[in-house]
Amino acid sequence: MPELPEVETIRRDLEKMLVGRTIDRVCVRDRRVLEGFGPDGGRRRQVAPNSFSRTLAGRTVAGVIRRGKYLVLDLGPGLSLLAHLRMTGRIVVGGPDNKARAIIYFREAPTVLNFIDTRRFGEIWLAPDWRRDPSIKALGPEPLEPMDEEAWGQSLRRSGAALHSALLDQKRMAGLGNIYVTEALHLSGLRPMRRARAVPEKALPILLKNIRGVLERGLADRGVSFRDYRDALGQRGSAQKGLFVYGKGGCPCPGCGDLLVSVKVGGRGTVYCRQCQK
Ligand SMILES: [Zn+2]
Repeated sequence: MPELPEVETIRRDLEKMLVGRTIDRVCVRDRRVLEGFGPDGGRRRQVAPNSFSRTLAGRTVAGVIRRGKYLVLDLGPGLSLLAHLRMTGRIVVGGPDNKARAIIYFREAPTVLNFIDTRRFGEIWLAPDWRRDPSIKALGPEPLEPMDEEAWGQSLRRSGAALHSALLDQKRMAGLGNIYVTEALHLSGLRPMRRARAVPEKALPILLKNIRGVLERGLADRGVSFRDYRDALGQRGSAQKGLFVYGKGGCPCPGCGDLLVSVKVGGRGTVYCRQCQK
């Protein structure tokens, strides 16, 4: 699943290519892409593809924003298009792609935006003001922006969950996923299955520094591409080459040489070193 560095890479690409361009027409080839799963887990939106398409026609892209793992096309006063890529979603600008679930055509042909998604968990929807959308309002702070670090630490230590799961919770901090959490915990010497509330207070600034470090490196390398992730030009990122432990269960730890262990924590696969992580 694309995490903060991957979504931010797409945002930067889209900003360069789409700002100032006007939507000509929209094809909704799979109406389920508009219905989504809803912020409250399960309820689907009632959306008429016709009105979705008509609302977008003639609107000009004023900006492209990222919040957590959400992308927002700011379409001027009173209208935003929000997108979440979930497991396998891609947003690719270029010519029309016949696998796309939705295609936005711009007046400045031949530019089109394709929303492609083989697993079909991704979603796009409209909101009058993206800041007030329930999905966005539920998010915790952005890790790469200045934030109340003490409040973040306290919220983490209030969690009854495993540390790995607590860090994946987007309400505490937005944008983290399995890959970057696995990396940051390794660099911080913390085991993923350890209770979040048992993490010593003095370990928290180090953990935050490592979270920021792995995200910034991922961003510099335009994201991790194992299978599905592509940038907005359809190209792979290269951050997978710089990963220390993620996806390397059974291989020697880069720190001590002991073999890394694969485990499931809260249903998600992660990797750690028994010697270096306590
Ligand atoms: Zn080790």
